Amino acid sequence: ETTQKAQIGVTGLAVMGRNLARNIARHGYVTAVHNRTDAKTKALISEFGDEGTFVPGYSAQEFVDSLESPRTIIIMVKAGGPTDAVIDELAPLLSEGDILVDGGNAHFLDTRRREAALREKGIHFAGVGVSGGEEGALLGPSIMPGGSEHAYAKLGPILADIAVSVDGTPCSTHVGPDGAGHFVKMVHNGIEYADMQLIAEAYDLLRHGLGRTPKQLAEVFTTWNSGDLESFLIEITARVLAKDDPTQEGVALVDVVLDEAEQKGTGRWTVQTALDLGTPVSGIAEAVFARALSGHAEQRKAAQPVLPGPDAGAEGSGGFVAEADAEQFIDDVRAALYASKVVAYAQGFDMIRAGSLEYGWGIDPGAMATIWRGGCIIRAKFLDRIKDAYAKNAELPSLLLDPYFADAVVQGQEAWRRVVVHSVNAGIPAPGFSSSLAYYDGLRRERSSAALVQGLRDLFGAHTYKRTDRDGSFHVEWSGDG
Ligand code: NAP
Repeated sequence: ETTQKAQIGVTGLAVMGRNLARNIARHGYVTAVHNRTDAKTKALISEFGDEGTFVPGYSAQEFVDSLESPRTIIIMVKAGGPTDAVIDELAPLLSEGDILVDGGNAHFLDTRRREAALREKGIHFAGVGVSGGEEGALLGPSIMPGGSEHAYAKLGPILADIAVSVDGTPCSTHVGPDGAGHFVKMVHNGIEYADMQLIAEAYDLLRHGLGRTPKQLAEVFTTWNSGDLESFLIEITARVLAKDDPTQEGVALVDVVLDEAEQKGTGRWTVQTALDLGTPVSGIAEAVFARALSGHAEQRKAAQPVLPGPDAGAEGSGGFVAEADAEQFIDDVRAALYASKVVAYAQGFDMIRAGSLEYGWGIDPGAMATIWRGGCIIRAKFLDRIKDAYAKNAELPSLLLDPYFADAVVQGQEAWRRVVVHSVNAGIPAPGFSSSLAYYDGLRRERSSAALVQGLRDLFGAHTYKRTDRDGSFHVEWSGDG
């Protein structure tokens, strides 16, 4: 504790805020700390007070008064109403030129609203996406700061200090004004949903299509982690599959975990926003819906005795694949996983471009790939390739058109098709694999089936249609036909 004025403050000292405050203090900043109720503030000071210079504030007024002017305050509380409550309490105590930062998982439209309201009062409001969970907050997260250039000039260097670095580059960069940072954090989480769904499908196909055990599959994923798929998520997939149930001998943990996925909402927000923007993020949507289906336990239980299909292969039976073809199948699944993952990321980056255009944010997509290379859940070798793709061509219409990614999906497509056919024949749902393949085919198709849809719309609703050979809108006289 000190009588010095603090350089920065953190309010909201649950797991994220506490670790972020410790990270900031460990980097030498005098850090004011505050929480709605005092217990968390006292615990931080007594457990970690010697890690740096903390200034505890036991009321909002005391907290605000402990900060040097202009003030910089990071709010790290439960997203939604609690964030508004904290802003409403702090704003009247602040002065023009102060910077208020929301590091929680806010919806970017809330951030836009808050930024506009606080701007009226001369307060700079910066919505900042923080990824990497509890451990990232302490040891170095990936940070997606939004807000004004002015706020970033003060905030940027602090965030660059506390973020993780990859190849000497901090995983933090100014994303754009108002809600841009929270928008990109939301899409990041959506991509994370898609990535995990695809990994789960690969696991399911190898487990039940090929009859491999979790332990055998842990080895497969470990091998995959030394190739193009190298990533944090593939690495931890191997760890989860290798884990035994601590309460029973010889039982894989994955076999006793309830198969109903949970969600906190950022994946759902991504899909809702994509619908508004008209961006097809089918991979993310399938992932969100697959979690929803997994959660309908009653329906699933009722359907099991009524809706038959092919039985998945028994463990050790080779499943639906002859043992002689097993190695080929494993490699096919790897290629299908990679191709589907490329599509999911291409869709996510499309959405970032669409959001940036819609809201005038001027987001640099390559910079987003750069700051996701460390600290966050989707960190992967692959992101270097995305960074390179946008460095070569900042106006790339789709990631799939970059020569490296085009080659990856083209090379993988035969395996991808075999795996989707296999999943259909074996009755193993692979909505991520199949929808991303459908997206690939939809994108490359010279003529889409939308021509018929337009014809239908003109017949039943006189919605008119456009022609391939002439400009303008046309309507055909349908009455009297048939
Ligand atoms: P949390 O469980 O989301 O929120 C708990 C904190 O919010 C406590 O400090 C609590 O204060 C405070 N709070 C709740 N309602 C309040 C109100 N009405 N007024 C003032 N304070 C209120 O905490 P968290 O898990 O550390 O997450 C903080 C933020 O980071 C959230 O927005 C979350 O979405 C985001 N985030 C979390 C993760 C993660 O891995 N957990 C990762 C990235 C981002 P009291 O102690 O007084 O109850």
